Amino acid sequence: MSQSPHISLINAMVASVNEDESDTSSNRIKRASIGKVVCVGRNYAAHAHELGNDIPTSPILFMKPTSSVVSVRNNIVRPDSQVYGDTHYEAELCIQLSADLSAATVEQAKQAIGGVTLGLDLTLRDLQSQLKDKGQPWERAKCFDGACVLADWIDPQAFGDLSTVSYQLYINNELKQDGDTALMLFPVYELLAEISHAFSLQAGDVIMTGTPSGVGLLQAGDELKLVLGAHEWQTPVL
Ligand code: ZN
Repeated sequence: MSQSPHISLINAMVASVNEDESDTSSNRIKRASIGKVVCVGRNYAAHAHELGNDIPTSPILFMKPTSSVVSVRNNIVRPDSQVYGDTHYEAELCIQLSADLSAATVEQAKQAIGGVTLGLDLTLRDLQSQLKDKGQPWERAKCFDGACVLADWIDPQAFGDLSTVSYQLYINNELKQDGDTALMLFPVYELLAEISHAFSLQAGDVIMTGTPSGVGLLQAGDELKLVLGAHEWQTPVL
């Protein structure tokens, strides 16, 4: 399948972030081109229940900085558990925009989707619980370098309707998360439109649409496999 120019460009950007270790000015520009990463909390009822949380009445939004983005083609580097406690994996369907969205309609949101892939919203769960208990923001638990793992972007045309897409995360060949966007509390297109009413989204921005149930501990030596239809990506955890 031939890739759209947008998809090729974005995949090159994500690869460049990881291949080029030097912090040259051109690297900073490419990194910035990926845009902000907007994440959605508790978008699947079963996941809200497993962490003992209430079902939200509107999407819970938070962000990850561009500096947290890494390609799944790199090994996952887990923060030191002695210092930071448990790191959890959260496999999520991710969307990248190819157009700006501001107070958009659902149809406009649909048209603005430039790429689809899977990602891991890595979370320092112990630290997040402590921060929640104190009523403090989650950034320390969600924004560390490597906390946003993205696979390769796929043309949205390959999926047809994003309202019924299933995806899986396997760890050491055991199925851990089995997601289906049909089970989202806030479905993909409506979600993008709703976010754009809270703040503007721009071309290049990434939306991590929330994790299904089955989140758990990431351990050194684990082999992760993300599956999205005919596409799959594997990566070890260091
Ligand atoms: Zn998440």
